[in-house]
Amino acid sequence: MSSVEIRSLGPRTTAYLQPPGGWFLNNAGWIGGTERLVLVDTCATAQRSRHLIEQARSTDRDLPLSAVLTHAHGDHANGAGHVERAGGTVHATPTAAEEVRGGPHTHPEIFGQVPWGEISPPERITPVPEPAEVDLGRTRIELHPVPNRAHTGGDLVVHHPAEGVLFTGDLLFSGVTPLALHGSIAAWLDALDWVKSFGASTFVPGHGPITTATEAVLDRQVAYLRWLLDVTAIAEPEYDTLQQRARQHWPEWHDAERHAVNLRRAHAENHGHEFDLAEAALAMLSAAGGRIQLDL
Ligand SMILES: [Zn+2]
Repeated sequence: MSSVEIRSLGPRTTAYLQPPGGWFLNNAGWIGGTERLVLVDTCATAQRSRHLIEQARSTDRDLPLSAVLTHAHGDHANGAGHVERAGGTVHATPTAAEEVRGGPHTHPEIFGQVPWGEISPPERITPVPEPAEVDLGRTRIELHPVPNRAHTGGDLVVHHPAEGVLFTGDLLFSGVTPLALHGSIAAWLDALDWVKSFGASTFVPGHGPITTATEAVLDRQVAYLRWLLDVTAIAEPEYDTLQQRARQHWPEWHDAERHAVNLRRAHAENHGHEFDLAEAALAMLSAAGGRIQLDL
């Protein structure tokens, strides 16, 4: 199991950071009050999710536990059943809740056989249809569903105003190529403006190192999403050439095969045609050299 960094971001906020790059290696974290402990997201496998829960509970085992899922993707949500089996509750936007209840994301056609462990979904997920404030005891957090489809159709961010921390989920990728497979690029740009409006000083991205409002990470992602829309405005873009250009413009980003999917999503959006998910996934596999190796 690759290494995890557990970093305190304030007296009550902790980030759980997995290495940047490599599919299904997400960031998570937790906020602990005097009355309640809230996880932000779980992990992709049973082993990783159990480790996250153990670490979060290591300072106070008796606090009631909840998990808030930033979206339904398996790297963030596959472990949600473990929260319930540990006696906790699970919360997500209505769209994400329905997707998670439909079964874990494993995609054997892309990733082959992976040692996921027991990752059956939770029996119950409490929907978060609108912004909500949660009293954890001596501190409060805010849950904010993203107004429109951005990275997925059911994104949510978790804000801890007292410590200036915003868990962005996969609205923000840091040092990792964003993935627009299930998103809307134009609305994602709006969502990144909205992220800035919280005035948080620290962002915990869905993948990659923690960043701050003053670093260029968010702006680089905005530039990338705009570029995707710009270069696919023509009827028949040269995808191979554009993928190479993307790798040159954003050379520090891991998982560059995702450019293949993102360009096709942008083209579908620009021209109002149906996004061919299977064709885009095949192009991405080809860009990755035929297979995407997981280190889980
Ligand atoms: Zn995601």
